[in-house]
Amino acid sequence: MSDTRELILEAKHVTKRYPASGGRTLTACRDVSLNFYRGKTLGIVGESGCGKSTFLRMVASLEKPDEGEILYRGQDLARLKGEKLRQHRQKIQMVFQDPAAAFSPKMKVMDIICEPLLNFKRIKRSEKEAAARKFLEMVELPGEFALRYPHHMSGGQRQRIGIARALTLEPELILCDEATSSLDVSVQKTIIELLVKLQREKQIAYGFVCHDVALVQSLAHQVAVMYLGSVMEILPGDQAASGCVHPYTKALIGSVFDLHMDFQKPIESMDDEAPSPFDMPPGCPFQSRCPQCMEICRRERPALKEIGEGHLAACHLTAQGETE
Ligand code: ADP
Ligand code: MG
Repeated sequence: MSDTRELILEAKHVTKRYPASGGRTLTACRDVSLNFYRGKTLGIVGESGCGKSTFLRMVASLEKPDEGEILYRGQDLARLKGEKLRQHRQKIQMVFQDPAAAFSPKMKVMDIICEPLLNFKRIKRSEKEAAARKFLEMVELPGEFALRYPHHMSGGQRQRIGIARALTLEPELILCDEATSSLDVSVQKTIIELLVKLQREKQIAYGFVCHDVALVQSLAHQVAVMYLGSVMEILPGDQAASGCVHPYTKALIGSVFDLHMDFQKPIESMDDEAPSPFDMPPGCPFQSRCPQCMEICRRERPALKEIGEGHLAACHLTAQGETE
């Protein structure tokens, strides 16, 4: 079947390493290839420390990959510098866990929402309140909020302000990094509904990072599962639970592991069997925790291979037809 999706951004074989104590190197993302399409959502799931935020930061040009390239409409972002990079930044926006809380308590909602518009000289100072009201309406908040201060608002309202701010520069891609993770389940649902509505209206592409697989599945067209910096499986969003084949995805969905495991803690405190992100063994990154680990898994790193329409997995079992 021909792919009718419009490709906006393509990450190709992206690797990011960080220097760590003792002269060691930590590979936060390893050979990651993922695409973002107009009007579609790519969900990225995986335990804490698997490289989700690092990947998003590279997509947003906040950091450069050590290897691989990130192409925005065919253009390599690593080559953009100075004013060109500044102008490009408008196209990709990020929404964090509680963006409005990150601002000075002295800033009114309209100052927070309109700051990007003023930075890019899209509006005059005198137009701030009217512009803020327009964007508040888009995120279904009352226009009067423009004159208020965000710290008096609920988490859900503050997140709407964060989304309003992200919308101001009419981005093609919005990256949500655990954007709903600190909210109550019922509030989460309303924020997801808002994101879906905005996507339909404006054909925005989303990168939606979250450790809650069920939540990601509810809005993602495609889900990528990451483990210790590597993509283990990519599958259509509505099949994440029912159609997954990778033992790690199965474990993640079954919540066998502690999803809040923190790889940033000292090595000693980690799950005995989880490899450290520093000394990755040869072979499959998941070998030490995989209930179906075979001899080849300790030797050879499985490549991410297409196993069905829109479905890729990096697992030796699939190559042997043994996952069911
Ligand atoms: P996630 O968002 O999936 O929780 P991150 O991308 O934040 O994961 O982190 C991936 C790994 O990279 C972690 O082991 C983390 O400690 C490490 N890391 C992230 N950013 C940096 C940095 N700036 N310097 C050093 N290590 C980092
Ligand atoms: Mg993160």
